[in-house]
Amino acid sequence: MFKPKAIYYEKDIENYILGKELMEKYKDVPKIEIENHNAIEEMRQKENKEFVLMKKNLIIGTRKTHKFVENHKVSDYLVPYTSSGCTASCMYCYLVCNYNKCAYLRLFVNREEMLEKIIKTAEKAEKDLTFEIGSNSDLILENTITNNLIWTINNFKDTKKGKLTFPTKFDMVDDLLPLEHKGKIIVRMSVNPKEIINKVEFGTSRLDGRINAINKLKEAEYEIGILIAPVIFVENWKELYLELIKELEAKLSNEVKKDVFFEVIFMTYSYVHTKINEEAFPNAINLYNKEIMTGRGKGKYWYKEEMRKEGEAFFREELKRYFPNNKILYIV
Ligand code: SF4
Repeated sequence: MFKPKAIYYEKDIENYILGKELMEKYKDVPKIEIENHNAIEEMRQKENKEFVLMKKNLIIGTRKTHKFVENHKVSDYLVPYTSSGCTASCMYCYLVCNYNKCAYLRLFVNREEMLEKIIKTAEKAEKDLTFEIGSNSDLILENTITNNLIWTINNFKDTKKGKLTFPTKFDMVDDLLPLEHKGKIIVRMSVNPKEIINKVEFGTSRLDGRINAINKLKEAEYEIGILIAPVIFVENWKELYLELIKELEAKLSNEVKKDVFFEVIFMTYSYVHTKINEEAFPNAINLYNKEIMTGRGKGKYWYKEEMRKEGEAFFREELKRYFPNNKILYIV
């Protein structure tokens, strides 16, 4: 159970039910009042090597911008929702933006406003829209602190139209199993080979736990997707990912295998990741490999085209072999 070292909070959170609840829940944790969760000067000045320590704090505020961004994958819109950042420390995390200024967990207590906007947009739309509510954080992890997923599902299930989706790397799903969700929630479990989880995805659930969680969620009739992501081309990647696919085939329930869909995403990386990881995890593996990666502007790297092509051919072939009846939504 996450127990924050300190809480940085905006004054007006106490005007919200969740804000009051969190202040009560953590009444014995030291608190520091802040003006704005986006600009905590003290955090900005920390050294990269303090990255993991910074993630032991909790930042609580309200979300001020609620802009939906169009998306064309599983969802129609990416929606800023109740949290940003995370307490885990995956070395490639896409939420690491400007050095260590925004990777720590921030909770936004104005959830009523955010869900209301989603519901209004869903009900006004001509078609049944899907909203990605987990692109800025991990909502299964967040739910262990706020119960926000339970609250969200309970308050969304009776809308006339629309679905919600989110990805996760965590297995703490038991609280979601008894909920009435009316088929409106798509949970996408992100997986990687055990060795990569152990060496790169610090603080997340292990592979067995994630597979069990998928089986339990399916039994509770949630719609399920599997994200093989991010694919990291370490030296023995073919062996590791083949083992992963075989393990999924062996351990997923028949119910899951009936209609689970796959998304495959290759890792992107950046100069900022390199700097933080060198200093925060000096003994960890180096994810930057100049032989097979190339720049894509603004200090970002991705795998060279021939590597991505080889990866795509591999995943298409092996997923077809072991999951012949399941859709691959995309490989990017
Ligand atoms: S679990 Fe997700 S949000 Fe958390 S550090 Fe890993 S990639 Fe980032």
